[in-house]
Amino acid sequence: MIGMVARWIDQARHAVALTGAGVSTESGIPDFRSDAGLWKDVDPMDVASTAGFEEDPRRFYRFWIPKLAAIRDAQPSAAHRFLARLESRGRMQAVVTQNVDGLHQKAGSRRVLEMHGSFRRLECQVCGHSMDLQASIDLREDAKPPICPSCGSLRMKPSVVLFGDMLGPVLAEAEQEIRDADLLLCLGSSLAVFPVAGLVPLARRSGAKVVILNRETTGMDDEADAVLRGELSDLVQELAAPLGL
Ligand code: NAD
Ligand code: ZN
Repeated sequence: MIGMVARWIDQARHAVALTGAGVSTESGIPDFRSDAGLWKDVDPMDVASTAGFEEDPRRFYRFWIPKLAAIRDAQPSAAHRFLARLESRGRMQAVVTQNVDGLHQKAGSRRVLEMHGSFRRLECQVCGHSMDLQASIDLREDAKPPICPSCGSLRMKPSVVLFGDMLGPVLAEAEQEIRDADLLLCLGSSLAVFPVAGLVPLARRSGAKVVILNRETTGMDDEADAVLRGELSDLVQELAAPLGL
C-alpha cells in the first residue's frame, strides 16, 4: 500500500495536503482527542469562542498564554518537514491546514492555506489596529493580556477562527485548490470538523485520488482510495524512501 501511494505522489500533476492537529502532536502540541485534553478544566465556550473572548479577555489570555509560549518554542515534526520537502521538489502544490500553530511555514512550506487562521497576528476589535503576536505580547506565565497600543482597549483578538466565527475567503481558495487537485493527502485529522472535512468528498467528486494517513479511523475513511494507519513519523519515513526524499 505504501509503495502504491508513493507512486501516486510521484505521478501526481497537482497534489494537495490537508492537515490537522495530528501533524503537530509530535511537535509537542496536543490535539483535541489526546488524554491531555485541551478542554479538560475549562468550558471551550469561555476560552475559544468570540463571545467568551468579548466577555472576558483576561480569562481568554490566562488560558492561551502558556499555549502560545509552547507554540512559539515548538519545532516542526517529520510530517511538516516531509510536506515542505515535497513542495520544494515540485511534488506538492499546497497545504490546506486546520492548524493555527504556523509549523508548516516554520518547516519551509510556502503555499499554506490556514483554514482556521493563525496565532501570528493580533487585531484590536475596537479600532482595527493589527500587530505581530510574537513580537508584541508578553508570554511569561504571569503575563497580563495585551492592550491595544493605539486605543488602550483590552480587546486584542488573535487572528484565529473561534467557535461561532465564519471561515473567511480562504475556504473558497481551498475549494479551488482541491478542484484542481488530482491527489489529496490527508494527514493527522479526524476529518470530523466541517466545513473543512467537506473538502474530502469535494476532492473525490472532482476526480482526485484521496489518501488518509492517521493513527485511528476518521470520519472520511469511506471516501478514501487508500488509508494508511499508523504514526505519522513512521508513515512519512516509509513514503520518503521510495520517493528519494
Ligand atoms: P483532531 O484532534 O480532531 O484530530 C487529530 C487526529 O490526528 C486524531 O484522529 C488523532 O488520532 C490523529 N493523530 C494525532 N497524533 C498523531 C500521530 N502522531 N500520528 C498519526 N495520527 C495522529 O484535530 P483536527 O482534525 O485538526 O480538528 C480539530 C480542530 O482542532 C481543528 O479545527 C484545529 O483548528 C484545532 N486544533 C489545532 C491545533 C494546532 O494548531 N496544532 C491543536 C489542537 C486543535
Ligand atoms: Zn485599538
